[in-house]
Amino acid sequence: MESRYSKILEKNQREIVLLKSFPCSYGKCSFCNYINDNSLNEDEMNTLNFDILSKVTGEFSSLEVINSGSVFELPAATLKQIVAIVKEKNIKIIYFEIYYGYHKRLIEIISLFPNTEVRFRTGIETFDNDFRKNIYNKNFSLDEAALLNLSQNIYSTCLLICVQGQTREMIEEDIRIGLKYFKSITINIFINNETKIKRDEELFNWFIKKYSHLKNHPKIELLIDNKDLGVFKQ
Ligand code: SF4
Repeated sequence: MESRYSKILEKNQREIVLLKSFPCSYGKCSFCNYINDNSLNEDEMNTLNFDILSKVTGEFSSLEVINSGSVFELPAATLKQIVAIVKEKNIKIIYFEIYYGYHKRLIEIISLFPNTEVRFRTGIETFDNDFRKNIYNKNFSLDEAALLNLSQNIYSTCLLICVQGQTREMIEEDIRIGLKYFKSITINIFINNETKIKRDEELFNWFIKKYSHLKNHPKIELLIDNKDLGVFKQ
């Protein structure tokens, strides 16, 4: 089952597309099963991606492109088509995902969209460096200076919560720090998948009871289900 085009109609209205791309250059995050959507068949990817992009209307002047990896892993023809659609549909804001390792290359993407604000999202997942490295298997640490630098260039970060090994205090601290440094945060509640990471149901019940109202926070996108944005592959 899959859905690759959707509209976000509540706050921060936008169209969103889930495109196919080459394999994520990192590909080692312990919780990640999105990379199952990656491909090596460039022609097939372009055909599918062009079809999905043809649905974009520009009605909100805002478009989010996700691709189970980073924008740098999209086929060149697909990226070119995105540039054309942004121009044709007068898109004023475009969102892309990037892995942390690409954060010094953002200008390569920004320069493709001279009349559009490019907003990057990156999955920091947690501000606890040990947990990020040892549990989530992300290969970077962030000190205060790195965080400040990153927050100058990255619009939004994703947090992954309610997994075994986390505590209530860690989750609250992650949200506090995310809101302090970034213009927006996406809180993803972990859904069990085939990876070794497991959801902590007690944490989940606590979080939903105490923090469901964050759905209405202007700077927060709270995703309780991984289909909440309307685009998914299962
Ligand atoms: S960087 Fe993103 S797409 Fe790549 S493995 Fe990690 S979570 Fe998955």
